[in-house]
Amino acid sequence: MDLLQELKERFGYHDFRRGQKEVIESVLNGSDTLAMLPTGTGKSLCFQLPGYLLEGQVIIVSPLLSLMQDQVEQMQVKGEKNVIALNSFLSFPEKKRAIERLHTYKFIFISPEMLSNPDIREAVETLTVSLFVIDEAHCISQWGPDFRPHYLQLGEIRRGLGNPPALALTATATKEVREDIKNVLIFKEPAEIVYSVDRQNIALTVEKVDTHQEKVSRLIDYAASLTGPGVIYFSSRRLAEEMAVLLREKGFENVTHYHGGMEQEERILIQQQFLTNKLRIICATSAFGMGVNKENIRFVIHFHFSSSLEAYLQEIGRAGRDGKESAAIVLFTEQDLSLPLHLMEGELPFDHQIEGFVTLYQSKSSDELASSLQLSESQFRFLDHYVHDHSVSEMNRQIHNIKQLRDERLIYKKEKLISMVKWLHNDSCRRDGILRYFDEKMKNKPEDCCDNCGFDVKDLHTYDTGEEVEEIQEMDWEQRLEKILIG
Ligand code: ADP
Repeated sequence: MDLLQELKERFGYHDFRRGQKEVIESVLNGSDTLAMLPTGTGKSLCFQLPGYLLEGQVIIVSPLLSLMQDQVEQMQVKGEKNVIALNSFLSFPEKKRAIERLHTYKFIFISPEMLSNPDIREAVETLTVSLFVIDEAHCISQWGPDFRPHYLQLGEIRRGLGNPPALALTATATKEVREDIKNVLIFKEPAEIVYSVDRQNIALTVEKVDTHQEKVSRLIDYAASLTGPGVIYFSSRRLAEEMAVLLREKGFENVTHYHGGMEQEERILIQQQFLTNKLRIICATSAFGMGVNKENIRFVIHFHFSSSLEAYLQEIGRAGRDGKESAAIVLFTEQDLSLPLHLMEGELPFDHQIEGFVTLYQSKSSDELASSLQLSESQFRFLDHYVHDHSVSEMNRQIHNIKQLRDERLIYKKEKLISMVKWLHNDSCRRDGILRYFDEKMKNKPEDCCDNCGFDVKDLHTYDTGEEVEEIQEMDWEQRLEKILIG
């Protein structure tokens, strides 16, 4: 089979990107495949193309609702009608209809939580699945920072589907995490296709300052000296908003904020404006980035550092997808550590929430539990996975066990944070530090490597971003959205 021809005809691309062909060939051979390809490589193509060439349906397990929604929309825009996302965005009647018509879809995106629902599992088990895809497969591993307990059931679920070939996709997984992925998914003689996490065109810089105020003033300096589009990451929604206002007050045009607390339409609008160079700088939380395929992001600044090197790599990986020189800058003060610690603790349930959940589990619905105990999505997910039907006499033991699991999870997360903080304090090559963390050795050191190797952000070559940033007229977001949609 001429894969290149298929690529051209079906997708209109002239060539495969690094790793794509290898992964596709392995999948078409029927091998269980673990593929680690850097962000932006085009991992979706690795299941889309085989999906068209194989008879039967493709199930794609994806942990992030927004990413799933994005992927489905992108496929629909390209003309694929037989694609659906089964997730909590669907209303009850929509879900019912989707389940009845499940056999008519070629590509079925589904969240791991949804897949463990007995009705859905029963419907899915009637399908002829040609490929079982696990996107963001590092969520399987409790050694990774993004562990999702429901991913642990995927090996069992795959067995229920008649053991179709599986494809696990990830951009960031240490060796330990990759071993876990293969074990949990019960891979037989797997093909492991691993490309370096190194992004040679991204120069790395860490700058330690003494105070928050100094950090703000350095941020303003960078916004003035760096050219091209950029993203500034914050851990707090409030600060992302405040800094966008401050930058505008300082005379920077086309700056806005983006975070998960904004309405979906507004977020889509901002992504669109950034993609079309109408916005230059986005002050964002980690909610920004997944599914944003902008090639010419020239810099990513972390005003707050990420809580793991895995997350850091994902976030800086949004820069320089066009292969041109870009910069990743972290600004930090010693006081910054308390924020990620605080956030981390809040992602897991507190003692009273565990006690409440176990006690009320049998008498209340999921929605009631979530609202009466004020559970965030991640706290709910954790409890929903670990709390099981039990007799009243077992309650205390269950509460004790869950608290222990929570504490263990917190320790893993703190270890990840410690690796990040150690890396920030390193005085040796930063690229080498990241590569070692991912069990790699550095093969090529780029000229603009990192601050510890002599790189200075001032040396960053300037380039033409290709398009001028356009002025935005003063309109509220609803008017702007209307303008984009209606013209
Ligand atoms: P990832 O999941 O690896 O971050 P995506 O699958 O979202 O990346 O793809 C990123 C972008 O690259 C998409 O816009 C996609 O259409 C494009 N793309 C994928 N493969 C190719 C290719 N072989 N040639 C050109 N563009 C491609």
